[in-house]
Amino acid sequence: MALERTLAIIKPDAIQKGVIGEIIQKMEEANLKPIGIKMLHLDHARAEAFYAVHKEKAFFADLVNFMASGPIIVLCLEGENGVAKWRVTMGATNPDQAADGSLRKDYGSDVQCNAVHGSDGPDTAQFEINFFFEQNDLYAYEWV
Ligand code: ADP
Ligand code: MG
Repeated sequence: MALERTLAIIKPDAIQKGVIGEIIQKMEEANLKPIGIKMLHLDHARAEAFYAVHKEKAFFADLVNFMASGPIIVLCLEGENGVAKWRVTMGATNPDQAADGSLRKDYGSDVQCNAVHGSDGPDTAQFEINFFFEQNDLYAYEWV
């Protein structure tokens, strides 16, 4: 397995719920190291740009409004098989269908307000990491 980087977002609903700590704890328990982390508040244009791949979808406008509704935390995570591992840790898009113990099961409210984002593949991850982080914002380090 390869060491991979992926982009994670703690979405506005999870920040409102006060579960930032629980979510980051799950990342670390899964051996996904946060190597970059910041809080920011997307405006509509920036949320549209991040989710441009979904611009034809019926839910696009609602998704953009939701993601611009409050602050988010973006993290670059690094770990073995990191992209897939973070998707498993999150659970299915719809919390109703997410596995027991997954973050979306525990903290998601509905298919839109589902607590967390994760890249869906290595190429997407590269685009999404670069969307939020400069190379100098990332701190590769060894576990001791
Ligand atoms: P994922 O986040 O699991 O990769 P998608 O890329 O398909 O899922 O969708 C991006 C985000 O758009 C979802 O996380 C969710 O917030 C929202 N979304 C997806 N499907 C729907 C839907 N049917 N109705 C409302 N919002 C949706
Ligand atoms: Mg997706």
